[in-house]
Amino acid sequence: MDELEEKDIKTISFFHFLHIYLAGGEKMRRFHSYTVESYLQYLKKLNITRRITEIHLHHTWKPTKRTYILASDKEKVIYGMWRYHTKTLKWRDIGQHVTVSPDGLIWDGRDINIIPASILGHNNYAFAIEMIGNFDKGEEKLEGIQLCAVKKLIEGLFEIFHTDQLIFHREYSHKTCPGSSLTKDIFIKKPQNKVKILGEAIATKEQMKKYMLLINPLPNIQCTPDQIVTYYLNEGAIEGVRGDVAFAQALLETGFFRFGGIVLPNQNNYAGLGAIKKGMAASFPSPRIGVKAHIQHLKGYASKEPPIRPIVDPRYTVLEDIGLIGSCIYVTDLNGKWAIPGNGYGEKILKILKKIISLPTQEDSADIWNKAILEENKKLKEENNKLKDKIKQYEVLLNTLIKEIENFLKTDV
Ligand SMILES: [Zn+2]
Repeated sequence: MDELEEKDIKTISFFHFLHIYLAGGEKMRRFHSYTVESYLQYLKKLNITRRITEIHLHHTWKPTKRTYILASDKEKVIYGMWRYHTKTLKWRDIGQHVTVSPDGLIWDGRDINIIPASILGHNNYAFAIEMIGNFDKGEEKLEGIQLCAVKKLIEGLFEIFHTDQLIFHREYSHKTCPGSSLTKDIFIKKPQNKVKILGEAIATKEQMKKYMLLINPLPNIQCTPDQIVTYYLNEGAIEGVRGDVAFAQALLETGFFRFGGIVLPNQNNYAGLGAIKKGMAASFPSPRIGVKAHIQHLKGYASKEPPIRPIVDPRYTVLEDIGLIGSCIYVTDLNGKWAIPGNGYGEKILKILKKIISLPTQEDSADIWNKAILEENKKLKEENNKLKDKIKQYEVLLNTLIKEIENFLKTDV
């Protein structure tokens, strides 16, 4: 934080005087904390009279994360900053609009409709965020709920103020603020709505398999998880379609291979081909051919080039008939074409794809698969034991009955 303006000094002196005059002493400036979601809700309803075009990011350096975490009264930490800004630096109010604390809370600060004391000479159109912590290399780490809150906050502010300008204090200063360990790509999501259908897969086989099994440990498919993923990558590579995109689409269409809709698991139809009415959905003799048909169908939407391999997709000619061949370059172009009305259809695919790609690559998903099987085995064993107990009870009952019958027969004789 910096920025010291002449008029700030005048204003603060006046208000300070007024406060003392009215309250007969120093009044504690109160601060309120919000979750990031509720803060953004509050901001959306607020009447904002200033033009805000950029989001400034700072770290406090001091107070540190440690100071805040150890403080029994968290508001006092924010109050301490206010005191420093207004008493020592003689600003009109705390410098920043919000403070993000290590517990992921958003503390309010300076009135949004008043320019912040953020970066000297760059304050007019700024919204200023302070993160509590010292994020220089080798010091504290921006992580966990605090990082999550900052990211969500920036994303929300971008949306509210129709901007994508994130400014680090150090861009206009010799300081390292918001910390030499931080780079912008931590906070800014790359635009994801421009993912092409054609091209090479980015996700690895392990990531695809792992994500599927994370969501559904027992996919209802007629082959192994490894095979289905391999088919998508291989068939995709043959036709020049991104196998990971097609696979993400299959996960969406089949509910992570749980099915439960019009298409039955044994139809090997992973893209809902022809699934307009019950009984009309296409069936394929094997998972591999099912995948091939899906890839060909997707290629039909994305390219005017016909499939390289013989066509197994029964709906390919339909695409030609209705003029949709080669009509979708990007995944989101499928909205209203593959899916009708299809609002957000492509975005849903991309959301799944993003989750797949964000998984660590080194771990073996065999672990997850094995764990799922072990759990299933455990359940079966428990059920087995219960049945065994019941059988024992019946055996006891039967023996008693036999004895009673024998006794009855004896007495009869
Ligand atoms: Zn700063």
